[in-house]
Amino acid sequence: MKLANVWIEHRTLKLNQTFTYRADSFLLERGVRVRVNFNNTSCIAFVQSVIETDETTQEYTDRTGYALKNLESVLDEHSLLNDELFDLGLQLAKDTVAPIISCFQTMLPKMLNPRSSARVPVRELWILPGDTDGCKINPIQQEIIDRVNNQDRCSLHDLKEEYGSRIDTLVKKGLLTRVKKEVRYHVKPIANVLRKYPLSDDQIKALSAIRETEKEVICLYGPTGSGKTEIYLELAEEAMRNHHQALILVPEISLTPQMVQRVQNRFGQDVIIYHSGLNDSERYQQYQRVKDGENTVVVGTRSAIWLPFQNLSLIVLDEEHDNSYKQDSLPRYHCRDVALWRAKYHHCKVVLGSATPCFETYARATKGVYELIELPTRVSGVLPKVRITAPGNGYKNGTIGKDLTDAIQLRLDLHQQVVLLLNRRGYSPIMQCISCGATEQCTDCDRPMSVHKDENVLKCHSCGITRSIPTVCSVCGSTMLRNLGVGTQRIEEELNRKFPTARITRMDSDTTARKNGHRILLDQFAKHETDILLGTQMIAKGLDIPAVTLVGILGIDTALMRTDYRSVEEAFDLLVQAAGRSGRGDVEGEVMIQSKMADHYALKTAITHEYKRFFVTEMNYRKLGQNPPYQYLIAMIFTSSQQQHACDAAEEAAILLRKQESCKILGPSDLGKIARVYRNRLLIKGRDLEEMRNYVRMTIETMQIQSDVNISVDVNPLSIL
Ligand code: ADP
Ligand code: ZN
Ligand code: ZN
Repeated sequence: MKLANVWIEHRTLKLNQTFTYRADSFLLERGVRVRVNFNNTSCIAFVQSVIETDETTQEYTDRTGYALKNLESVLDEHSLLNDELFDLGLQLAKDTVAPIISCFQTMLPKMLNPRSSARVPVRELWILPGDTDGCKINPIQQEIIDRVNNQDRCSLHDLKEEYGSRIDTLVKKGLLTRVKKEVRYHVKPIANVLRKYPLSDDQIKALSAIRETEKEVICLYGPTGSGKTEIYLELAEEAMRNHHQALILVPEISLTPQMVQRVQNRFGQDVIIYHSGLNDSERYQQYQRVKDGENTVVVGTRSAIWLPFQNLSLIVLDEEHDNSYKQDSLPRYHCRDVALWRAKYHHCKVVLGSATPCFETYARATKGVYELIELPTRVSGVLPKVRITAPGNGYKNGTIGKDLTDAIQLRLDLHQQVVLLLNRRGYSPIMQCISCGATEQCTDCDRPMSVHKDENVLKCHSCGITRSIPTVCSVCGSTMLRNLGVGTQRIEEELNRKFPTARITRMDSDTTARKNGHRILLDQFAKHETDILLGTQMIAKGLDIPAVTLVGILGIDTALMRTDYRSVEEAFDLLVQAAGRSGRGDVEGEVMIQSKMADHYALKTAITHEYKRFFVTEMNYRKLGQNPPYQYLIAMIFTSSQQQHACDAAEEAAILLRKQESCKILGPSDLGKIARVYRNRLLIKGRDLEEMRNYVRMTIETMQIQSDVNISVDVNPLSIL
């Protein structure tokens, strides 16, 4: 009989094994989707292997103790993944300690996904020539047949519009045949526009260094506006000329309309833009284009790393330090790691570009593991002047201090534009009772609720639930409630008060929630229909608007005081990125950072644009704490609706893990509940990541956990707060 070993669609580590079904009458191969009965419900599964055996069903049952069931149906004719990607899926599961099926689900677009919620590709009916030998054909029929013969694709729909039921007659007679084919995306050609300026000497030098180096990985380090993107485009064009494919990865937020325009001008119809704004069928069509091996440049966000490239010769990660390259749900992979893996397979180069490379990358580059290539200055020559100014002292003069207020007024008078960054949305993050000190908490999470004046509600930023703003304290009944702290809505109020005639665009996830909200607001500001752009970190990146001459950064002290091992690095990145938005045109730019911590090394180095000095100092702290990149971290998270169960599971794992001595176990620590789910975490710290992964895997296999406990693993977590 024929047996198929399949992965069931349920993505939990407890089911991370194949199940066997009888597949006698089916044609199938590795990497196709099938429908099976599992636990008395019908579900989708993904085929790992197909084997022939001499055993009978009875013998199989006797040997294994399982009754064999038949496959219900097969969904795909051919494997959805080529060998490279199938192996990558298995490797990814190992590297991220995630269920294998979750990796395949992440890799495949929705329409091809091995899970029940997948959608089926749109199919259209096409007409092909049939057998016309010995048939009597009238002139109009001949016209139709000629048309079908001469045209590449004829859709049934189009032909019927023109010739009506004659088509049906011809099909019935066998003179034409009808086939189902998937709809393909038709791209409108755009005239290629070439670069308007010659490359700078620094760019030329950097390009030849990239071409010549023997090393596969290049760290391209250069300040914002130093012409890195131009280098990516040159390299991509080269790949295309050689009939290869190129992939340029960008963080979601910096895939601005400007960026899209820039690559479309350069590559016309050969560019594929692949991002989360595409609907399922658009994604699928672009996926097919890449699979067909078209010579294309793909510009895309994280998930573009899974496209089925045939002959890839370049991968670029722009802003390679950006946290959005890490997926924060299962499987918790980092796009950079996958890029390095695929580059090995395709023997192609990887360019990691940034003004503030992540520490792992820069450390490897300085050690010579990666090639370090620098663009020393901005194309326009000048970096903006950065100053630290005093914040406002609260109620009377607000959050925006005197210096920044004056500077904004000056820029408004000159008809220039201002960007203000505050990395916190809402009106105020905490509502507190003055009488008893209690804060309004979310009932489903152990978190304070934020005040949102726009919608007139309290909102939980962890789970999203809202309730009306109370008028009395929920603990003591006092009416003396105050808003503690400042969010973007509150700054908007202050701006309206201080600059009554200024036009303001506020951009945060509340104002950009609707489709294209992000683009519409940015467009508005880019066209200078508004004067001040106020927003969270989503405005810190990618924005290239020449009329912006002042950038103000608020609330950075809170970011610097966080105790996470990467919080200072992240604050520094944010400062440098945000500062980079200023003075990109002809007028010199200015940046003001409001802070009471002027002596902090991150601020001191940020104002002088000295990434390298910051790197050296911060690395010392990393070394002291033996934090990454000196040692590796793995987080294990235990969740359950029962507080005790989550806690017990974490304890049990800690005991098991502590039996080995080569790494350190930190915790368990109670992370509180989010959306009524209790969370406990263990941290494993050590020098041998592979060994650490093995310990974690073994621990999960050995543990006897309650059925309502879920374990998830985060290898190289970006945050351990
Ligand atoms: P980065 O990616 O480092 O931020 P970009 O490639 O976006 O830098 O370049 C910054 C700006 O300078 C862009 O507006 C770009 O069009 C322009 N630019 C890039 N290279 C040159 C050049 N050689 N000559 C003139 N302008 C350039
Ligand atoms: Zn109270
Ligand atoms: Zn909540």
